[in-house]
Amino acid sequence: MQRYDAIVIGGGLVGSAIAYGLVREGLTTALIDEGDVAFRASRGNFGLVWVQSKGLGAPHYQRWTRLSADEWPKLAAELGERTGIAVGLEQPGGVQLCLGEEEFAARRAMMEQMRTEAGNFGFDYRMLDRDALAEMLPGLGEAVTGGSWTPYDGHVNSLYLLHGLHKGFVGRGGVYIANRSIDYAGVAPNDFRLGSGADEIGAGKIVLAAGLGNAKLAPLFGLSAPVRPQRGQILVTERTERIWPIPIGSLRQTLEGSIMLGSSEEEVGFDTGQKPEIMQEIARRAVESFPFIAELQIIRAWAALRVMPPDGKPIYDASEKFAGAFTANCHSGVTLAGAHANVFAPMVAAGALDPMMTPFSARRFDVPAAA
Ligand SMILES: Cc1cc2nc3c(=O)[nH]c(=O)nc-3n(C[C@H](O)[C@H](O)[C@H](O)COP(=O)(O)OP(=O)(O)OC[C@H]3O[C@@H](n4cnc5c(N)ncnc54)[C@H](O)[C@@H]3O)c2cc1C
Repeated sequence: MQRYDAIVIGGGLVGSAIAYGLVREGLTTALIDEGDVAFRASRGNFGLVWVQSKGLGAPHYQRWTRLSADEWPKLAAELGERTGIAVGLEQPGGVQLCLGEEEFAARRAMMEQMRTEAGNFGFDYRMLDRDALAEMLPGLGEAVTGGSWTPYDGHVNSLYLLHGLHKGFVGRGGVYIANRSIDYAGVAPNDFRLGSGADEIGAGKIVLAAGLGNAKLAPLFGLSAPVRPQRGQILVTERTERIWPIPIGSLRQTLEGSIMLGSSEEEVGFDTGQKPEIMQEIARRAVESFPFIAELQIIRAWAALRVMPPDGKPIYDASEKFAGAFTANCHSGVTLAGAHANVFAPMVAAGALDPMMTPFSARRFDVPAAA
């Protein structure tokens, strides 16, 4: 049996970032991925490093997201230096547009709640009126009444990120085991054995980062990950001259000039099909926001499934029953990559989660039985 210090299950953005962090901590690490048979959010997302709407009513999540955004430049620079892959990180701040006074008022209330909940940690935001936005964003449509701005937001090429994490992981001695599903798991505290066909690998630590696959895997390790799929559809235009200095919540222009339009939030189970009426609605809102988009050709469109915890906030846990087993699930694996590689992985390497992670435990979903 091949033994490692740690095994990470799931080679998407969450597992790759954690595995990269673990090898950097000096742990011999294997990263196992099931392959194309699985649903893979990491290959179908929007690429925002988005802070301004994360953690409403949950200041711990707001802080975790901000921490990740702060870690991002370090991670991007390190991946660039070690792998030669420039992930295209830009963090110039971001804007969420509001169409109509009602949306503007609701957004203002939300941002003010975020600021109040941030307490002494602070939350810098501004509500920008139409004129201020029009100066910043050429081509702004008449339907836009204003928007919210924070300095924390950014975007990245998330496929380059995934590639960079994999290359960085292997470059530091990590072992990537692709297209492998697990036939059995032998589970004991600090002694985990996974079998696939005739092969067996073992480790003292295991991190379950299999996205939607975690729902089935977690109970085997004394953990729980009640995640569900939530579909998002995205449209992409042909390349055009770069016009916006800043990403917009549902529109972002890539470094190469394409404009991404997105993304829907649909409760349709494990269905990655595309729906013309949803695509039309995404396009309609984009054209209302920036009428010139109507002149651009749509060259690609797809749907992918988010990994959604019941309350939308990440799940991180350490197993009480089987020491050494951890879970990680979230619906913002691009945004949180900085924290996963630079903060979460060192906790796993040290063998315990920091107390600041306690509110993220899936135990928050345990509802006492009615008397
Ligand atoms: C439309 C859309 C837009 C999004 N936009 C953004 C955004 O702008 N910003 C942002 O931060 N996030 C965004 N996200 C979310 C982000 O993509 C996900 O949070 C992230 O990709 C989740 O990564 P993951 O590794 O947990 O899951 P996945 O990418 O699903 O990867 C899980 C991996 O685990 C493997 N696996 C599953 N089961 C097993 C098993 N039993 N054994 C071995 N391997 C297994 C699979 O093969 C898969 O590769 C978006 C998602 C969608 C769908």
